[in-house]
Order: sequence, then structure tokens, then C-alpha cells
Amino acid sequence: MIVETTKEFLDKLEQLRRRRRAVILAHNYIIPEIQDIADFVGDSLELAIKAAEAEADVIVLVGVNFMAEVAKLLNPDRIVLHPEPQAGCPLASFVTPRMLRSAKQEYRAPVLLYVNSYAATKAEADYVVTSASALQAAKKLSREYDRIIFSPDRNLADWIQEQVPHLEVVPIPRHGHCPVHEFLVSKYYVMRAREEHPNAKVLVHPEAPRDARRIADYVGSTSQMVRYIGKTDPRGEYVLGTEEGLAYRAKKLYPEAKVYPVTPRAVCINMKKLTLDKLVWSLETLKPQVRIPSEIAKKAREAVERGLELVGKKPK
Ligand code: SF4
Repeated sequence: MIVETTKEFLDKLEQLRRRRRAVILAHNYIIPEIQDIADFVGDSLELAIKAAEAEADVIVLVGVNFMAEVAKLLNPDRIVLHPEPQAGCPLASFVTPRMLRSAKQEYRAPVLLYVNSYAATKAEADYVVTSASALQAAKKLSREYDRIIFSPDRNLADWIQEQVPHLEVVPIPRHGHCPVHEFLVSKYYVMRAREEHPNAKVLVHPEAPRDARRIADYVGSTSQMVRYIGKTDPRGEYVLGTEEGLAYRAKKLYPEAKVYPVTPRAVCINMKKLTLDKLVWSLETLKPQVRIPSEIAKKAREAVERGLELVGKKPK
């Protein structure tokens, strides 16, 4: 039996990356082994921008499937690989194109759609935003509109409503949520983490419920949390109220900081479906490739670009 060493395995990955002229983009929640070899690690907004700016023949998007779709939307002529198509996002499944069409008729307001949604739904949106851009986008729209529709995360909608009280934010559907943030970045786990780490600042994602956000020191997206550590005290102590993978990224960026996940149970099983083995197989076979019907892709791409433009992040 020929046994391949881990070094040989990683060498093979390097050769494939070069041979395919590929760029590997990984989300902050992905396993450490992939974060370590990725060309770039970031949140969905950063990944979308990097995907649009990438000078590569092949983009490998290591995240859940709506993220791979966004990379394809912004790179229609390039090969976009998503090593595990079964890695979906339960939050994205809360909203359908039909729901948005009927909400627009009922409420007569622009639709701000969270990037955690599928391409066919994005095609019905006015603007696609991420947790890093949603608040800024809503504030801009509030200069022109009294009401917006926000979908599909009810907690993010509620957070925007709290920050921009003069704007009516209608959540579609009423119950859309991410199970990791809703149930594991809850008030209970935030309180428990505070008791375990009394000197730590507690940073919470806006997808967390209101009562958990209210007892946090800071509310922000994953990239905003990481920046907060850098700006506040890179040697300080922090509890991160989001998926546990971000703690690894934060510790890597700030090795002198003490960083803890709010609970080690805060695991997105879909993000963890992406493994190094699947990544190597995908680069070897150039499968599975992301494909989006052209009519949907055109409308969805325009909504993503309008969303980036609204917050001044249109890719170069
Ligand atoms: S952490 Fe939540 S929102 Fe993010 S991919 Fe997993 S299920 Fe979706």
C-alpha cells in the first residue's frame, strides 16, 4: 500500500493551484486547515469583492453554496468551483422569489436582500447586502424611503430597525433566522461566556437575537469584529458571538489576543462540510462547477452590483 504523507498531499494541492491558475477563497467559518492554505479568508462581502477582482482562470469558493453562486455571478466567464454543493445555508432557504414578489406588491417598498439567499431570489431584489453593509445601505435608503423590505434574517432586520428608527423595516418572512446564531448565540450563551471570561469584551453578530445583542459590548459582522480587536486592543480578551471558526481567524491575526467562541457548540455544520480532500478533488477534476441560468444570473448580478454600489464597494 502506498501511503501519501500530509506534506505530499499539500504539495499536490500547491501544484494543482498553480497548474489551474486558481485562487482559493475561504469564508471565516471554514476549518483551520483550509484557512491556512487559502489565498484569502474573509466574510461574504470581502469574498464577493475578491471574487470580482481575482485574476485567475479558476475560482474555488470554500463556503456555503450561495457564496459560490455570488462568485459565479460576478465572474460569469470564469470557472467557479464549489467543492461541496451539499453545503447549503438554512437561512437562505427561508425566502423564495415568489415571497419577494408578493411582499413588493403588498408593501410598495424597495427590497434589501441579505446575501444569504439564492440566485433566483436575488434576481427579484433591488439591492443585495451583507451583514457588513446592510446597516449602511439601509441608512442611505432611509433618505429616500420611509419603508424597506428586509429579507430573510429577522434578527438583522430588527437590528437595522433599532439603529434606524425613522425607517420602517418589514422582515420577510417574519421568522427567517440562522439556526447557529438564533439558538447558540443566544442570551444564555452570551451570559455564560461573560461569567467564564469576566474581563473579555463580548462581540456579537447582528444575526443574533435582540436580547443577546443588548448585552454585548459590540455588534458587527465577522470582518467588523476582527477589525474591532485590532483597533481596541490586539492583546485584549474577547468573546466572539458567532460561528466558532472566526475565533481561529482572529487568533491567527492577533496571536497575543485571548479569543474565545461564545460556545464551542456554535458550529455551522454546512461550513464544516468543506474539507481539504474535497478541495483537492475539485481542483483535480474541475468539478463541481457553479452554473446559473443566464436570465437569472443577469438580474441577480445587477442586484449584487447595486448593493455594492450603494455602499461604495463596487469592485474595480
Ligand atoms: S452560520 Fe448560519 S447563516 Fe452562516 S452559513 Fe451557517 S446557517 Fe447560514
